[in-house]
Amino acid sequence: MGPPPPRIVRGRGHRVQDEHGRWLVDANNNFAVLALGHANAAVTDAVSAAARDGACFGLPTPWEGQLAEMVVARVSHAEQARFTNSGTEAVMTAVRLARALTGREKVLGIAGSYHGSSDVALAIKAGVDDPTRPDVVTVPLNDVDRLEATFAAHGSDLALVILDLLPNYAGFEPVTQAFLERTRQLCDEHGTLLAFDEVISFRLARGGLQSTTSVTPDLTVLGKLIGGGLPIGAVLGSEHTLRPLSPLSESPIESSGTFTGNPVSIRAGIACLTQYDDQQIDRLNSLGEALLDRLVGHLPPGWTVRGVGSLVRVMPPEGEGAGPARQAFWWAAHRRGFVLMPSGLMALSSPMSEEVVARLGEAVLESAEEVASMVRYNEGRE
Ligand code: PMP
Repeated sequence: MGPPPPRIVRGRGHRVQDEHGRWLVDANNNFAVLALGHANAAVTDAVSAAARDGACFGLPTPWEGQLAEMVVARVSHAEQARFTNSGTEAVMTAVRLARALTGREKVLGIAGSYHGSSDVALAIKAGVDDPTRPDVVTVPLNDVDRLEATFAAHGSDLALVILDLLPNYAGFEPVTQAFLERTRQLCDEHGTLLAFDEVISFRLARGGLQSTTSVTPDLTVLGKLIGGGLPIGAVLGSEHTLRPLSPLSESPIESSGTFTGNPVSIRAGIACLTQYDDQQIDRLNSLGEALLDRLVGHLPPGWTVRGVGSLVRVMPPEGEGAGPARQAFWWAAHRRGFVLMPSGLMALSSPMSEEVVARLGEAVLESAEEVASMVRYNEGRE
């Protein structure tokens, strides 16, 4: 946002302070990372202790195994986890692994879905056939007919299908059970691997959003939350599926990184997940539902609000003016003392009280109304 963007110097709990000393309620939370808010005491202690003990080593630490066990215990299909430095790298690792296991190149994703900034991921986000990227094919969200047609055309070349179960940039609507089931069937018929990207959606349930469906992937990609605010990513799967990622396997594939599994990120992640239990998750999701309730039916005509648990997204009417309206909406909320994501997504954090969330709801309604009336004025309707 900008130029210039507001520059932040510190965060505490549910708020951030800018360089001019102004405190703002943070519903961005570093793009949904900070479910426990800023500078959580146990996370801060873990980070300080890890830094004091030496920030990185060229050998594994016991904590790496501990965090792996914690995430594996939550994700029902997983037996092992391999850490990376970001969600982007975890997706890259999943793609490389699927290609190695299948001997194929093509990856299928939902058009518009964001899976990080690798070339393959960005081709999925672009969502249009690109002759320079014959290794990527996309289908519109929840379009089972297109999914079937794509498998009919490319099934024997498909290494991997990657799905975010709640793809923000593809409209922030959940992937339907019918689409998921058909995807699983087609993957099984064609020997294609299925990965769920739960980099954002993992915060929504103890076992990730996948725990609310009956469909099981072969790989799960995590990031954000599991590093407690420090850089991280992870690929989870069965021992058999992840075997090529081990340097000890017969034909290993590359998955190294100087900082992967670094103890600062890992110990922060342990401190975060230890606190992020069922009770915290339920409370946070209830706050999100209250926010959604306040907004549904009260936004200006053409505006949309969608939400699942602690994630709620407000969108101006689609079309030419949507980009500028999103920007104006962001700044209108900022003027009222609230920070959203530029897409209009809000990710709540546990230090938020009901009262703070109620104020957030009012600020969102006022900001949307301000932008809508500006648009009406500009169009000569007011
Ligand atoms: N997948 C999803 C669903 C994401 O939302 C993101 C980041 N917003 C990524 C992958 C990439 O993660 P990172 O920014 O840590 O590389």
